[in-house]
This record gives sequence, structure tokens and C-alpha cells, in this order.
Amino acid sequence: MVNSFDPQRESALNSADRDLVRRRSAAMGAAYRLFYDRPLHVVSAHGVTLVDDAGREYLDAYNNVPVVGHSNKRVRDAVHEQLGRLNTHTRYLTDEVVAYAEWLTALFPSPLDQVIFTCTGSEAVDLALRVARAVTGRSGVIVTRHAYHGVTTAAAEVSPSFGPNNSIPDHVALIDAPDSVRDGTTGPDEFARRTDAAVAELEARGHRVAAVLIDSVLSSDGLQLPDAAVLAAVRERARAHGALYIADEVQSGFGRTGSHWWGFERHGIDPDLVVLGKPMGNGIPIAGVVGRAAHFEAFGSQVRYFNTFGGNPVSIAAANAVLDEIEDRRLLEHADALGRRMAIELADRLAGESGVAEVRAAGLFLAVELVGDGDFPDPARTSRVVNLMREKQILISASGTYDNVLKIRPPLVFPESSADHFLQALVESVAQSGR
Ligand code: PMP
Repeated sequence: MVNSFDPQRESALNSADRDLVRRRSAAMGAAYRLFYDRPLHVVSAHGVTLVDDAGREYLDAYNNVPVVGHSNKRVRDAVHEQLGRLNTHTRYLTDEVVAYAEWLTALFPSPLDQVIFTCTGSEAVDLALRVARAVTGRSGVIVTRHAYHGVTTAAAEVSPSFGPNNSIPDHVALIDAPDSVRDGTTGPDEFARRTDAAVAELEARGHRVAAVLIDSVLSSDGLQLPDAAVLAAVRERARAHGALYIADEVQSGFGRTGSHWWGFERHGIDPDLVVLGKPMGNGIPIAGVVGRAAHFEAFGSQVRYFNTFGGNPVSIAAANAVLDEIEDRRLLEHADALGRRMAIELADRLAGESGVAEVRAAGLFLAVELVGDGDFPDPARTSRVVNLMREKQILISASGTYDNVLKIRPPLVFPESSADHFLQALVESVAQSGR
């Protein structure tokens, strides 16, 4: 995995961290990864700041879960109050849960009028696939070639970004995502053709297509932001083939892309199902699937749905406070304006730097793609930049098909002054990494 600590290099750590790394791997096993050449040992966080065990402060330009800021007071107070009063499941009538469902669904265009709550994005992806299968009576799923959609069995099966050891079953077909550096001129006709080819591939393997599942900002494909017509063409082909279009908004939802609440709105498309997660509860686990009444009816008439913790009143209290904060602090407008400024300044200040292929941005999700000769991806330099930034006490990471895309995705409350500090450090780090 890109930007992961290599345990062979533990000698670079101080003795306390080395001990904690050893205890961690002894107690938690081999499946986990840590970020950075020198993992970060954090003890607290507030706003856009994380604090390590020596009291050093780090600027958070990476985490999209604490969308309204780490340790947000409104979220904390709401959770505290609700936890001290009532926390149970969705088999009783509770005012707060229904009111939140009404508020959330009102933020979606009709007929996306209903929501089913889960605890994680993976569960929501899993549920959306079940709904699509119940509605269509089919099994096939189309995703992009470097997609990430989660960790349950069904979600991992549609997550080729896990690499070659995560086998992709016959009922899943992959389409190449847009790649603006390598085939920037590719337009909607080509994506319609790729979708049709994937449908044919599934049919040749005995599977009709139930769903096309797309991350609205194609984050694990390297934050690809094609013209609106491209995903619109994929959506149109899904409909033509009788499949549901599922927008994965775990990364792009809740104002991340600035001008809109939801990433799919940038593409002018009307998904059948929308998967939500990460920022929804600002760190309290809550996720969900938004969809059409008719589709949930088709699913719900076949099987009941109950998720013990999904949509519990404490998670809902956090989610409610998140919507309050986003609206009251006008965070969509902020993400839009600040994201634009950062993207323009970054592109401008990196213009003379060799190896910077592109700066991409949608709201407060920014990416810088680094290449060598002939646009060949440069993951080693990308990793150097990520780690130089970490040494400057600023947190970012990397992503993309070739691990050569800097991933910049701060909490939406990122202040203007932090943006200036961030830009200066990033420009310096990119220059340093190329020497
Ligand atoms: N979809 C996307 C696009 C994601 O980025 C993620 C999480 N990284 C998921 C689904 C899964 O969410 P979770 O980790 O909450 O299960």
C-alpha cells in the first residue's frame, strides 16, 4: 500500500514508538498498516490540528471524517446529551432518527426520498448491492479498475485497488477510469463504449448487470474529475442495460466537492442509489444508503432489514450536529471558495516545477499528480513529498492507480491561514523532492 510504514525500518523510531509498534503488531496482527516512514503517534486533536505524544502539532490536510473539525464541540455536546438520555436501536419509535432521515433525504433530489442506516461505508455498499440485485434480479456489477468500495466480502469483491491478492469474481467487470494525464481527450463516447464492453463481458460469463457502482470523485483512481458528460454517459448506459447506477459518496459527500452537497451533482446525473459514510457523523460511526421508495420497497418486501447499531440515536445525534455545522458555518461555500483558491495557487506555484503533471481539485479535495520522463508515474517522489510534509508537521497522503497522486483532503473547516501555510510547505516539499 502506498504511504505505509515498513516495519523493517523500525530502527528509525524512538524507543517508545518502537515498543508500541511491536505491541501493536503482536496484539493486532499483520493486516494493519501505519502511515508514513515514521508513523505518527497521536494523543489528541482539535479543529484541524493533531497533537503527538511530544506535544507537537500537525496540520491536518488529509482527514475527511472530522469534516466539521476534530473534537467538534457541537458534535461532542450532542453525543453526550443523547448518550445520557437514550441510546437504542431502530426497532422502537424515536423522534430524532425520523427527523434526521427527513432532513437528510430533503438534501437529495427527488425521487431519492428514503434512507437506510448502516454503521460503515462498506456496509452501505454491501446493502446497495443487495438492493440492486433485489430490484433487477441480476448479479453483475461494474466498477472502475482501481476502485475502492470497502471491506465486507461483497465490498472487497468490487475493490480492485486491494491489488492482485484480492481476487475479483466473475460477476464483477472493470472499466478503465478516466486518466486525464494519459488519455485526457477521452470523452463520453469512449466511456459509453467501455460500459457496454463490460456489460458484454459479464454476459459472456453468465451474469446480467445489476449495478454500475462509481465513486463520484474516483478518489482511489487518483481523484479523476472528467467532464460531466463522461459519468453521464456511464449512467445512461447503465439505464439502457436495465442496471441501477450507484453513486458512492463516501468520499465526495457532505460538501467535500464544494458547490454541491453530493459529488454526483457535479456530473448532473440522477443515481438510483447513493452510498454515504465517513464524514456523516464526524467520527461517530454512521453511514447509509439513500434511494427511491420503489427500490427499497422491492428489497424490503423480500427481506427485512435490521442493523443493531445502524442509525442508533447517538450516531444520529452526531450526524444531526454535522448537518447543523455544515449549514450554519456555510461550509459548502467555504469549501468551494477555498478549494478554488488553493487549486489556482498550487497550479500557479508548481507551474515551473518539473514532474508535476497536473493539479486537480473539486472543492476541498485536491490532487497533484507527479510523473517522470514521458509522463511515467513517479510513486517514489510522491512518497518523498508525503514524508517531507509529515516532517514539516503537515498531514497528506497519496493515491491513484500508480500511487503517484498526492491526496489533499482537509476537514472542511480548514482556515484560510492554514491554507497559506500548507501551500508554502507543499510547494517547498515538491521542489525538495525533485532535487
Ligand atoms: N467507498 C469509498 C469510496 C471509500 O473511500 C470507503 C472508505 N475508504 C468506503 C467505501 C468504505 O467505507 P468504510 O471504511 O466506512 O467501511
